[in-house]
Amino acid sequence: MEKDFLTGKRLNTMAVKRINEIRILQLLYREGELTQTELKQMLDLSSPTITQGVQMFRRHGILTDGEALKSSGGRKPRKIAFSYQALHAAGVEIRPHHVEIVIIDMKGRVVFSETHRLNYENTPAYWTAINTHIKDIICHEPKVQNLLGVGIAFPGEVSFNGNVIERATVLGLYNEPLDNIKRHFDYDVYIENGANTAGFGAIWRDQANADAVYIVVTDDGVAGAIILEGHIYRGSGKAGAFGHMTLDPNGKQCFCGAKGCWTAYCALSNLSSYADGDLDAFFAKKGQDHKLQTAWENYLTSFARALSIIILSMDLDVIIGGKLARYMRGELEMLEEKVREHPVLRNEQFSIRLDNIEENGLAVGAALIFVRKFLEGKISLDSTESKEEGQQMIGS
Ligand SMILES: [Zn+2]
Repeated sequence: MEKDFLTGKRLNTMAVKRINEIRILQLLYREGELTQTELKQMLDLSSPTITQGVQMFRRHGILTDGEALKSSGGRKPRKIAFSYQALHAAGVEIRPHHVEIVIIDMKGRVVFSETHRLNYENTPAYWTAINTHIKDIICHEPKVQNLLGVGIAFPGEVSFNGNVIERATVLGLYNEPLDNIKRHFDYDVYIENGANTAGFGAIWRDQANADAVYIVVTDDGVAGAIILEGHIYRGSGKAGAFGHMTLDPNGKQCFCGAKGCWTAYCALSNLSSYADGDLDAFFAKKGQDHKLQTAWENYLTSFARALSIIILSMDLDVIIGGKLARYMRGELEMLEEKVREHPVLRNEQFSIRLDNIEENGLAVGAALIFVRKFLEGKISLDSTESKEEGQQMIGS
């Protein structure tokens, strides 16, 4: 009998079977498709173990036939392929006056998205409305089926044990048990701080890197997340709240009550206010307008000051996301130069990149959390069914 690597405890046969199934699943997810022999060699498992695992996932439609292989006669054998469209996950971004809903496939591709005007209020009617929107999508979109769950990107701090929203200043919500939200849904629900979901998604897409500080910049402020080994680092819930670092204790008033926070200087409203609230116009005109160009350079100076503190303290790559990212192309060099104005960083190597997702980064990241849960074997295949009338969602 095999032993657990860490505890030395004997694993029962069922646990070993489950671990092997998950290894088959994860390898095929990563590679797309493989032959039975490749699977056997790469995982160092016996043929019967591979066959058993593959059959189990085939029954649920998650593995399927891939490319045909050459054969000496008879029915052509085929590779075993991961079916990325077999399961889906929903992501929801909660904003003060809107909700964004996306549905992604297992690869993280958005197959459906919609925005609803819905004023946030912490009432049963609000959460039920979101649940109804998701149910409608599943009813009307034939491509979308077998929902793993609903990830909610929330503009607030979720406590370490994940059971309470401790503080959501933007929405005026404090100490709200997550169960009060979850019970209005027909699906498994996971609630996470929005910057964390966006950061998690960025690292998921950037397969080369598992660690980074992620910065989300929106009209209203700057938020951050710390991703370590592909996982969200939460601390007790506040980790990554870089937006409220003090850049100048006697500086500009921030909505949090403090003065001189990064958010106070680098919320995008600081720029759009020069162009009647139109950020596109600001960036279109700044090249020809001295006043706008100065505002942009001052903005980057504050931004760089904050980044230098983050790089000095974390020594991690920085990924910039949110609405700012699309305007930053071609501007990174100037930002890096300003970071290097800090004497300690003058000759240091650091990496500042832009998130490559164009839209819905927070909602997509929230949905991706369910994809990871599934690949880690934390969602049983039998549970991916609608709660309604026991309707079987995965091929029985
Ligand atoms: Zn602040």
